[in-house]
Amino acid sequence: ADQATQKVYLNGQLVDKQQAVVSVYDHGLLYGDGVFEGIRVYSGKVFRHEDHIDRLYESAKAIRLEIPIDKSKMLAAVNETVAANGIVDGYVRLVITRGSGTLGLDIRRTSDPQVIIIADTISLYPEELYENGLRIITASTIRNHPSALSPRIKSLNYLNNIMAKIEGTDADSLEALMLNHKGEVAECTGDNIFIVKNGVLKTPPTDAGILEGVTRNVAMELAREAGIEVVEMTLLRHDIYIADECFLTGTAAEVIPVVSLDGREIGDGKPGPVTQKLRQRFQEYVRE
Ligand code: PMP
Repeated sequence: ADQATQKVYLNGQLVDKQQAVVSVYDHGLLYGDGVFEGIRVYSGKVFRHEDHIDRLYESAKAIRLEIPIDKSKMLAAVNETVAANGIVDGYVRLVITRGSGTLGLDIRRTSDPQVIIIADTISLYPEELYENGLRIITASTIRNHPSALSPRIKSLNYLNNIMAKIEGTDADSLEALMLNHKGEVAECTGDNIFIVKNGVLKTPPTDAGILEGVTRNVAMELAREAGIEVVEMTLLRHDIYIADECFLTGTAAEVIPVVSLDGREIGDGKPGPVTQKLRQRFQEYVRE
């Protein structure tokens, strides 16, 4: 949507983009204290809408943040914001902050959680990378320990991911692989990871310390429907080095091939057949 007419949902109202502001005392800003979602819109329909809203409320519950409206109101608010901005194919960013408080950490001294919905267009990676695949590195920054801040919570505190992302971009790697505290493969900074080995699709389980991606679930469902065996299992970096194929999934990235990790070519260094088939199937599915 263009600058002048873009409407942002803020606490029950659609306001002009310029009027969509929150307090500098908001704990979302001061401490990354809040939760969010990123959701795609395909052909005017919000993709896997309930799944995203369910995850949002679960994230909020985990941080003891009470979202001031119920799920049905939230679903309606997202639809309303998408429609008001004339978004047919785009992206929704839903943000719930803790609200304003004192400069201290006590959540009991905060009030008015802010409910923010932005509907916009999106372009993440150039088309060329979907055809030729990403070349990525492993970051030395490990994924948050699940007992410190669970990666299952989609919180506004994304510094762990940003630290790894910096390592990636410094190395001209547009994504970066993150290992967990046990040295196992977790996920990338904003995407889940899959490999194909001997025809079997493999991805790290939830307890590897990952965000349970909505796209990850869709990819597993579509693969199973296509008769591909899918297993959630512990993976080491070595498994990726010797994989036949590798790809990432995420709301923004969709399904994108990875053709090298840490300078090791994966398979023959080109996007593999299972990856290409799943990507194609994904593109059909989102518009069904
Ligand atoms: N992992 C992380 C850390 C992410 O930020 C995202 C993007 N939300 C994903 C995985 C992919 O999740 P989804 O498919 O739900 O977008």
